[in-house]
Order: sequence, then C-alpha cells, then structure tokens
Amino acid sequence: MALRWPESISELVNQLSRLPGIGEKTATRLAFFVLDQDAAYADDLAGALVTVKAKIRRCSACGSLGEEELCDICTAPERDRTSMCIVESFADLVAIERTGEFRGLYHVLHGLIRPLDGVGPEALNLPAIAQRVEGLGVREVIVATDPSVEGEATAMYIRNLLDDDVAVTRIARGLPMGGEVEYADRATLGRAISARERLG
Ligand SMILES: [Zn+2]
Repeated sequence: MALRWPESISELVNQLSRLPGIGEKTATRLAFFVLDQDAAYADDLAGALVTVKAKIRRCSACGSLGEEELCDICTAPERDRTSMCIVESFADLVAIERTGEFRGLYHVLHGLIRPLDGVGPEALNLPAIAQRVEGLGVREVIVATDPSVEGEATAMYIRNLLDDDVAVTRIARGLPMGGEVEYADRATLGRAISARERLG
C-alpha cells in the first residue's frame, strides 16, 4: 500500500494545483517549501491571499483593478481623455503601460466575446463602452485585443457599437496571429500600438 500524505498536505497540494501553470509536481514542491519555512511565512502568505481578495476591486469607470472606487489612471489629470484603449485583461493593460506608447484612458473587458462558449457582449464590460466614449468625448478608441478569432470578433463588435465619427483603430500586425498581448515583448507591442490601423 502506498504511503498516503497527511490530509493537510494533500489539501495544500490540491489548492496549489488549481493555479494556472502549476502541475501536481510543482504544487508538491511549493507545499514542501512552505512547510520548510517558519510559521511567520505561512501567516504572511495566507494573509496576502486574503487581503488581496478583500481589497482589490474593479474601477467603477474602466474596470481596471485597484483599491479605490476609481483607479489611478482614471483619476490622473495628465491622462489624455480623448483616447481610450480597450484591453482584454488587467495584465494586458500593464503590458501596454510598460511600452510608454499610450497616455490615454483604458477600458478593461475581463474577457473576449466567445460565442462557442456562450460568452456574449453582455457577460463582459462591453455595453458600458459607448456611454463612456460619449460622456468623455473620446475621439479614438484603440482595440488592443489579442490577434485571435475572439480578439478580432470583439474588435468588430466594438466598431459596430460606436458612432462612425469615433475613430476605431486596431493594434497593428506584427503581433503573431494567435499571440497574446500580455506576453508580447515591449518593443513589438510598442510598434503595434504606434502602427495601429483604422477599422471599418
Ligand atoms: Zn479606471
């Protein structure tokens, strides 16, 4: 009969295995790492997990993440309020900020339209875009979704959602088809933003 781990170790390995990119082997290594540390480390780790869930919320304007009602970008007076960049995730927003190529506002969708999985526009932070664009007087909307079938479908939906007098642009080719904004290197993503093309 194989030796069974104590229940508490199994539970920690199970929970760690649910993290993206963490298989059972890595989860086991992480669990034993935690066990090897002093009790203060486990307290700090557990505390950080609970605190981040309790404190982080979506910005009520753009959907980005922060600890206040409005995020740092929405409240920054120096941001250009005539342009808005639409991204799939907060990680994509961070990647675009790092390029330094964009100084406007963002809108975070928290997903893409995926008809085959039953994810329609109403499940995303999409319907609010038209109202924000009109309210702020945005002149250009840059769609920075991934170059994938879902990313292109979402971009076309946004083009159709907005009035024709709003320029809707798409970050340019250069990102490999099927690639992801989040993982593009800074120079490639920067070029894709500055060489954006008008949609429709
Ligand atoms: Zn915001």
